Amino acid sequence: MGAAGTLRVNVLEQCQLRCAYCLPGAVKPFTPNPARLRVDEYRRLAAAFGAHGLRKVRFTGGEPLLHPELEGVIAAFRAGLPQATLAVTTNGLLLPSRLEALARAGLDAATVHIDSLRPDRYRQSMGDGDLEVALQAVAMARARLARVKLNCVVQKGLNDDELWSFLALSRRLDVEVRFIELMNTGSATHYTRGAFVSGARMLALLAEREPIAPLRRRHEADPAALYRTGSGITFGVIASDTAPFCGACDRLRLTPDGRLRGCLYEAGGTSLRDALRGGATDAALEALVGATVHTKRSFHPASTPGLTPFSMSEAGG
Ligand code: SAM
Repeated sequence: MGAAGTLRVNVLEQCQLRCAYCLPGAVKPFTPNPARLRVDEYRRLAAAFGAHGLRKVRFTGGEPLLHPELEGVIAAFRAGLPQATLAVTTNGLLLPSRLEALARAGLDAATVHIDSLRPDRYRQSMGDGDLEVALQAVAMARARLARVKLNCVVQKGLNDDELWSFLALSRRLDVEVRFIELMNTGSATHYTRGAFVSGARMLALLAEREPIAPLRRRHEADPAALYRTGSGITFGVIASDTAPFCGACDRLRLTPDGRLRGCLYEAGGTSLRDALRGGATDAALEALVGATVHTKRSFHPASTPGLTPFSMSEAGG
């Protein structure tokens, strides 16, 4: 592989929700506060990533808005990567109160995760959250940020009859939906096997109402394959299991304790935190990032046997 264009920064693993397929904290305990990267450390790392010319940084978790200094983290990356798109993936519940400060810090885009548009199902899938607040967050973000998307993890018998409701919402709020295949990361194997809906099945369900035409990906490395409905609604399908996109992947991932990885499924990583705390120079940090870029390879179960179980809240989905 050997090219990097985007970075996912997992700022912390904690979440106030408990999605049935994610289960934060189920596989490994959360990183304790002193072991997590500090804002001044993110500032130095952002400069090192900036030297490699990334085009996009996405802040995720856990729930990134639980991080008390997320504005500072975003401002650090804005300074280090002035041209990059800075995005957050969030359940949206804390977004209304922080949106303005996050936008001022440099946030450009948000993806809000909502699995159902029915309050009972939303709670069944995601835990004790308030769907109305999440929907309000989407509308507010659309008014303030350059780009807003919706993540919907499609689950058999839970929300696979709501795909057109999501597309209607997408048209009404002018946001694109990403329908996501459940990935078996080993944290909730029984659930993910039983609820799995393939990308092809999602398209077949949507095509019962209108013809669906494929579009080109906006960027070759984007995880979502794009489609347009007959009535002109654009949406994406992320089919990590049935149509892995490792060949075009340009993502790096940074864990809360500063381990840099080239793949979601990779267990270890290079500790940039240890380098920082050991007195590494800026040039040495840049070289460590470069080494990960050049040795990046896929650990996807389709190509590498022996999955080490993890929760998406640790890996930073
Ligand atoms: N708390 C934020 C949220 O809910 O979006 C950010 C972190 S969450 C781990 C990021 C995304 O991972 C979610 O939007 C959800 O779509 C996706 N996700 C989590 N576990 C998954 C799984 N097992 N399979 C597919 N997608 C998953």
